[in-house]
Amino acid sequence: MTVTDATMSTLVDSIEVPTELLVAGVWRPAASGRRLDVADPATSLVLASVADADAGDAAAAIGAASEAAAEWAATAPRARADLLMRAFHLMLDRSEELARLISLENGKSLADARSEVSYAAEFFRWYAEEGVRLRGQVGRSPGGANRLVVTHQPVGVSVLITPWNFPAAMATRKIAPALAAGCTAVLKPAAETPLTALAVAALLLEAGLPPGVLNVVTTSDPGPVVEAMLTDPRTRMLSFTGSTEVGRLLLRTAADQVLKCGMELGGNAPFVVLADADVDAAVDGAMVAKMRNGGQACTAANRFFVQAPVHDAFVEGLVARMAAVQVGPGTDESTQCGPLINDEAVRKVDVLVRDALDRGARALLGGRPADGPGCFYPPTVLVDVPLDARVLHEEVFGPVAPVVRFEREEEVLAMVNDTTFGLVSYLYTGDLARGLRLAEGIESGMVGLNRGLVSDPAAPFGGTKQSGLGREGSTEGLLEFMETQYVATSW
Ligand code: NAP
Repeated sequence: MTVTDATMSTLVDSIEVPTELLVAGVWRPAASGRRLDVADPATSLVLASVADADAGDAAAAIGAASEAAAEWAATAPRARADLLMRAFHLMLDRSEELARLISLENGKSLADARSEVSYAAEFFRWYAEEGVRLRGQVGRSPGGANRLVVTHQPVGVSVLITPWNFPAAMATRKIAPALAAGCTAVLKPAAETPLTALAVAALLLEAGLPPGVLNVVTTSDPGPVVEAMLTDPRTRMLSFTGSTEVGRLLLRTAADQVLKCGMELGGNAPFVVLADADVDAAVDGAMVAKMRNGGQACTAANRFFVQAPVHDAFVEGLVARMAAVQVGPGTDESTQCGPLINDEAVRKVDVLVRDALDRGARALLGGRPADGPGCFYPPTVLVDVPLDARVLHEEVFGPVAPVVRFEREEEVLAMVNDTTFGLVSYLYTGDLARGLRLAEGIESGMVGLNRGLVSDPAAPFGGTKQSGLGREGSTEGLLEFMETQYVATSW
């Protein structure tokens, strides 16, 4: 292993953080011998280097998954569930070390990293429980001639691709249902945050993972590596979490073999506060919806629509809370908002904020990148944001809250739905019936009604429109990794 950072060295003394590829149960270097550096976004210093796979390594990983597929599919659901439950407990035992690792390579605050670890571990528990409830159906055909026997079979070798913003949870949200369903898989984590995924894979090995059931490839060259896996005839499923732009590209590649596709893509979440809302509760919810991960979440509130009578009180409360946020390296215990993932992310946020300011918005807090080293952008609140500002239409992925005032309830749905995305929306109102009525008109896969957080392993997570296809979590997440088979039976 190559580890170059002192904090990282201390960490790897207490938790196994592999830095090679996992293929057929063995940690091995990339065939080319190439390495990929992983940096701490708070300092830009290199933490460690991991194996840098090419298309040949990817094919070997698919081969390993393919060889293990039949036996894993035939393994008793209870045995698969027991493995996942052991992984759940191991993850909880190592939660503090995993949180520190996430915070180091991703930059998020320790508080955010700790909640990510517990969220991530819950997918192992939920699918350990769900994986022994693989029910089918038996019915009689309407004509009465035969019985309709319906079962669900594992879809087969699955390629799991994850982003950097939740390096543990996005991995377990795919690994757990895939393995519970009886599929074998190859995980390709994001190049910025491969260490967490490798540490999670090490825990699974410790829990008794058979060789080849989960393989991990890390790479600096995702295009050819992923293409090799998606065009390999042994692959049957693509489960992707990341940007809509890359998702669209992969759907095209997946079309060649008509792969089953689960796509968790970008968002542009509206956060609506109606005049009858509890403003303090709405500000609390806004802080969660906006500031989890420093705004770097697909579920992050991206645009705020506040009804005129409560606009000023909401903005005053939000500015006070955003101004009090402690910004710094994620690994400092006092930090509430860490750095953005890299310099490019800071530049992108800056472009969107400057565009809004140029079009007439006003910054009541923040409004330009922080000086000094590290990839920091300060908490920012923009008001009087015009409807054509780019920040209302593109994912900002940073701690920026653009606020739009609206007058009548009738006009808000059109503004909320004026987006190609449809992942999640937030709505605050004192009238639950009004909230449910409005929720039905909102074009998004999830709605937080008087809540700033929707994620729950037991709930179907996913988007409509260009935010994705399919659902993760819940029973639906398990069925994503299964094919329905109907047997027409003469009884
Ligand atoms: P991204 O750039 O789309 O990358 C996601 C994954 O795809 C990474 O593993 C990346 O590898 C890989 N990738 C990039 N280009 C590729 C290519 N040409 N071919 C094959 N694979 C490729 O997204 P990100 O910046 O990591 O994550 C942020 C995005 O994810 C946001 O849009 C966010 O909304 C979305 N997201 C959605 C959900 C959800 O559940 N809906 C959850 C979290 C995040 P590299 O790291 O090497 O580039």
